Amino acid sequence: MKSQSIYSSLLLCILTFTHFLPIAAYKCVDFLDPLDPSKQAIVDCPPTVNNDAYVKPVCAKVREAYDNAGEEISKVLKLKQIIHVNATFTDLFDATILGSAYSARYMSLTSDDKIMRNYPQALVKQFSLTVYPEYNADDILASFNAGQNWWFRTDNETIGSDQFDFYLIVLHELIHGLGFSSSWGNYIEVADNQNTTGLTPNVNFNDDSQFEGFTERIFDKYVKFIPNGVSSTSIYYTSQLNESIPIGTSFNNISEFVTQIKSSPQWDYAESALLSATTNGGLTFIPAKNTSWNEEFYLESSIIPYVQGSSITHISLLYESTSDFLMKYIFNPGESMEYLIQRGGNYSSPIGPRILSVLESIGYETDAYPNPIIPTYEH
Ligand SMILES: [Zn+2]
Repeated sequence: MKSQSIYSSLLLCILTFTHFLPIAAYKCVDFLDPLDPSKQAIVDCPPTVNNDAYVKPVCAKVREAYDNAGEEISKVLKLKQIIHVNATFTDLFDATILGSAYSARYMSLTSDDKIMRNYPQALVKQFSLTVYPEYNADDILASFNAGQNWWFRTDNETIGSDQFDFYLIVLHELIHGLGFSSSWGNYIEVADNQNTTGLTPNVNFNDDSQFEGFTERIFDKYVKFIPNGVSSTSIYYTSQLNESIPIGTSFNNISEFVTQIKSSPQWDYAESALLSATTNGGLTFIPAKNTSWNEEFYLESSIIPYVQGSSITHISLLYESTSDFLMKYIFNPGESMEYLIQRGGNYSSPIGPRILSVLESIGYETDAYPNPIIPTYEH
């Protein structure tokens, strides 16, 4: 079997500078004809910062971290197709953001339980389907905040107490891009500028603005909500929400849709999903059989109020001192990957068994899980 590494096909290493030299009306002389030195022109040539000296080494370090993260992932996943990562490194002007990544395209396939779910493109490529939904040029879109104080392992210096390990964050984000990501979110109320009172999976409308139901992601097939100690599967909540409004109902705008669904009795399930996502012990992941971790474990549900992108889609902080630290939702400055690996017991891989079991459950092949469940594509 061919095994190839993840690589960054498009690296846009953009650095934004906040300090510019004042520009004065400087003039230069251009010689226009090599055979006739009398042909000259006076041109503007304002003082210009030589960015190359700084940009090139930083870009090289950024690229090296991307490549190393790809190699680390390729050590554990048996990838049959190259995964293209479109990654940018630019100042996001937000001190709270380290980076983010997501699948560039999700595709609707039928899981083994005959339910249609959204699968990330990087994963679909590994299924080697003879007919497949058209691929986006990129598999994963990633963005990292150049405005942070990054530490690059290739500098061979000790990490500062105010620095973040760039490689650690890149690896974390790429795991999201591979499919460690729930569809449950507060999108519909946010779209209507309302406060969050419930969560739903991704909602679908056709070109005629008709409601086509909610679709969960393959990650959610293994998610369980436990509000008030009563446990239900994600697909049960999704199927209940799909009863809230008849499929095919037309809406003039998002407000009309949000009002109607929130007045349906099924909105209770959206509220229960939110309660689970904001209650300690309210959310679990039950891996598929025979994967690298065969017990139920908790997902992040301790953040109050709910934060889209941080709640649900991470492993619980309960496991931050275990080999599964990589997918906790928050990293402290001064924590290098080596420190986190050694703190809990010198693991052989930064991608711990719970994290691996998530990737295996959704369909990635590994040494421990040679026969993943392959969905079908109905076309
Ligand atoms: Zn994350």
